[in-house]
Parts: sequence; C-alpha cells; structure tokens
Amino acid sequence: MERALREPERLITGWGMRDHAHSHLARPADAEALAALLAEADARHAPVCLRGGGNSYGDAAILQGGLTLDCSAAARILIWDPANGVATVEPGVTIADLWRRVLPDGWRPPVVPGRGAVTVAGAAAANIHGKNNWRAGAFGDAILSFELALPSGERLTCSRASHPDLFRAAIGGMGLLGVFTRLTLRMARAWSGMVDERRSAHGSLGALLDAMEAAAPDVSDMVAWVDASATGPALGRGLLAEGRELAEGEDPLAAKTLRDAWANWPAGPARLLRRLPPGLVPALARPMSSHAGAAFANRAQWMMGSRRASHEWERVSYPAANFPLDIIPNWQYSYLPGGLIQHQAFLPLASARQGFAALINRAHAAGLPPTLAVMKKQRASDATIGYLLDGYSLALDFPVHRGEERRLLALARELNDITLDYGGRMYFAKDSTLTAEQVSRMLPPEALATFAALKAACDPHETLQSELYRRALRPALEAAR
Ligand SMILES: Cc1cc2nc3c(=O)[nH]c(=O)nc-3n(C[C@H](O)[C@H](O)[C@H](O)COP(=O)(O)OP(=O)(O)OC[C@H]3O[C@@H](n4cnc5c(N)ncnc54)[C@H](O)[C@@H]3O)c2cc1C
Repeated sequence: MERALREPERLITGWGMRDHAHSHLARPADAEALAALLAEADARHAPVCLRGGGNSYGDAAILQGGLTLDCSAAARILIWDPANGVATVEPGVTIADLWRRVLPDGWRPPVVPGRGAVTVAGAAAANIHGKNNWRAGAFGDAILSFELALPSGERLTCSRASHPDLFRAAIGGMGLLGVFTRLTLRMARAWSGMVDERRSAHGSLGALLDAMEAAAPDVSDMVAWVDASATGPALGRGLLAEGRELAEGEDPLAAKTLRDAWANWPAGPARLLRRLPPGLVPALARPMSSHAGAAFANRAQWMMGSRRASHEWERVSYPAANFPLDIIPNWQYSYLPGGLIQHQAFLPLASARQGFAALINRAHAAGLPPTLAVMKKQRASDATIGYLLDGYSLALDFPVHRGEERRLLALARELNDITLDYGGRMYFAKDSTLTAEQVSRMLPPEALATFAALKAACDPHETLQSELYRRALRPALEAAR
C-alpha cells in the first residue's frame, strides 16, 4: 500500500474513454494480497475502487483520488472439476481464459458478455448478461458460491444457503460491499466447439420484435443489430442473428472442434487484423463515428445484411459467434478523441415497441443520432439492485464529439427519463449519466433500503467507492435509508 501511495496518481478511464479519473493504483498478484490491501486502506480511511478488466463503459470502475485496486492479476484457475463442470477461480480470471480451460473438456461458461477480456469478478459485480439471457439467466445464476473479503478484513463465504442476502446483493452490487477473492462457478455442457447461427432481416421495429418473440424452441442466443439511422416506417429495422447449441452427437468431429475452437481463433482474414499495428483499424474507422459516416455505415450494413440474410443455419466456432469484435484490438479508439457513451435501456415487452421508438426518435430530433444500436431479449434476475427484467434491451452508442458533449449529456438524461416513463431500467456497467433521482425512480425502495443496510454493515467507513457510487448510488441509498 505504501508503495502504491508513493507513486504518482494515474489517469484511469472507463472503456468508453469519456469518463476518467486520477488515483493511485495497486495490482496485487493474488487474492490474499487484494484482501490485505483493502483492509489496510480501510484502516487508513482511504477510499478504494475495485477494478477488473476495465470494460465498464462509464464510471463504475474509476475513482478520483484514493486507491484503485486492480484485481486482474489475481487470475488463477484454482480448481477445475471436469467431471461435474465446476470451476473455482480467482477474481481476475477472464471469461476467455475460462473458455480456453473448460471447452476442451466439453464445458462452457453458461453466460458470457460480448467481450472475452471481462473478468469473472467484473461479470459477477455487474451481474452481466449474454445473448442467451432470456433462456439461461444472468451470470449470477451460474455462481454457486463466492468468498467476499470485507474492508474490515473479515472473509465470508456466501451462497444461496449461506449469507443469502449478501449473496444476492454482491451479485450486481458493483463492487461496493466487498472484494470477490474467489468464485465457484457452474459450467454448462458443450457438445461441440461450434454453434449454428442464422441471420434474418426485419423491416421495422415491430417486425423485429415479433421475430424475436417467435423464436424457435431450439434457439438459445439472439442479438439484433438495429439500423440506428432509419426513421419513419423503417425505424428500428434490423438484422437478427440467432444461435443454437449443438446437441450431443450432432458434431461428428466434436473432440476436435472442442479442442481447436479457441486455438484456431481468429481464423482466415480475421487473423490478419491482429497482425496490423494496434490502433490502425480504429484510426481508419474513425470517420464512421461522424454523423454522416455513421448514417452511411448503418445504411450500407442494412443493405448488405438484408441481401445476405439467408435464414439458413451456418456452423461457426464459439469464439467467432460470441466475440466478433474482439478481433479488432482497441476498436473503441475509433471514438477518439471524445470517446463514447452507451445508453442501454431495458423495457418490459409491453412497452418495448413504443419505448424504443421514443428513444430513437428523441435522439434523432436532438440532432444526435446513435452510431450503433443493438437489441437483446432479457429475463429478470433476483439480484438486489438488478437492472434485468422480462423484456428487451436496446443499447445505443453515442460518440462524444467536440462541442456536443453538453447537449449529449442532456439527451442521455432525457433518454433515462423516457426509459423510466416506460417502466424500464438502465445498466450500471454501461452508465455514466443516471442521476440519484433517476436511480430512486428505477429501483424499488425496499431494494435500495436492503442494499443501503448491507453497505452500512459490510463497509461502515464507506471505503468502497467509485465515481458511479458518488454520482448516483450513494445519494439514492441515503434517500432510501
Ligand atoms: C465490447 C464490450 C461488450 C460488452 N458486452 C456485454 C454484454 O454482452 N453483456 C453485459 O452484461 N455486459 C457487457 N459489457 C459490459 C461488461 O461485461 C461489464 O462492464 C463488466 O462488469 C466488465 O467487467 P470487468 O472485468 O472489465 O470489470 P470492470 O469494468 O473493471 O469493473 C466492473 C465492476 O466490477 C467491480 N469489481 C471488479 N473487480 C471486483 C472484485 N474482485 N470484487 C468485487 N467487485 C469487483 C468494479 O468495482 C465495477 O463496479 C461489455 C463491455 C464491452 C467493452
């Protein structure tokens, strides 16, 4: 700790690169050291922000002043039991590391985000969801137990049977109750290193939602790219990618594809992208983040995608199906110099059509259309301060252009209000604009009161903080006490 505090503060950013803060940084090599540093900081009343892979878009893993405790080096897979598909890991193990280890034995993490560099602790703290959320639930559903080190130094093993309140609150609790020092996770069976994918095109938001509601029983994954530039009757038109897991015996080369899926990825021309100087592709793609460039790119994608949509199943490897954007290192740099804000709204099915149309229309009316829009089908979770609900989410990417930032922030807060008006929620892991009042409107008062009581019990000195906490969560928790 002394050493970390002696070194100059560092600039640390959210993944979207707009939100940033300066703090000291420590990156201990194992979970013991993580717990010890947290206890030491607590004794000195120094605020601590926990950080995993730094993939949260906004300010969930940054802090102005104090100490950022980077958990990504504590990254050992401690126990892997291939007979039962159960793994016990340190917090910094990434989702991609986990895949690599378990897939050759015929298992896969049941829930994965769109980026392999996310750590299991970050995934647990945000209770992340995958393209299969509507079928498989959220990351927290795959956690059997975890050890949580509190700022006092106490270490608690939590599960659905032991400290169940803390279990439900720390999952999705955004690193504000304690540090995960080890997690035990249930894997799902994989009968192949490949999955089937098919693509279809739908000319309006209503048609796209209808197609997603009518998904066939064997479809497990669904994600729709939505044409963010389309307005009027074509508003919300999009390309739907559906995926299905292969059943036992369907892949005659299962042993080989299970072994090779990760080793051979990225394959073909995509492999060349990795050989280019890092930053080159994002720099070339930068014009696409201008308003005109984004409109052109969206229209082109719709035209090409709708022509190519075949409705036929095509076999692709797991990493290609799950992490297509990971093949371009640092693609978020295409949003430099201003970075980006993502607004991800979750709406119940009953209001999704009207609510998403209202969000897109409002952005266009403000003269700040999103560059990218992605829709998923979602399912509620039992996390205490959960963002998930039975319905749909729409993620809108907004580049932060020079001279537009103030208008964009005002728009984002308006979009938050529209989402709340339609009975929706927003996602803390993507957020950088929610106000405390909006958090109080979004979450049931009893959930906020439960979380506030646990925060007071687990972290009485308020050692665990983040800019998200200071901006929106702390005042909302105080109001709920
Ligand atoms: C390209 C991209 C695609 C994405 N796709 C998805 C998606 O499909 N679905 C989805 O749900 N999310 C998605 N995300 C968001 C991402 O999954 C979450 O932001 C996730 O929390 C990031 O994990 P991380 O390891 O990077 O942690 P960070 O972003 O560094 O931290 C996330 C949270 O975890 C806390 N934390 C970190 N370590 C610990 C610890 N040891 N103990 C307790 N708390 C800790 C932090 O304090 C913070 O609140 C995506 C992000 C990117 C950049």
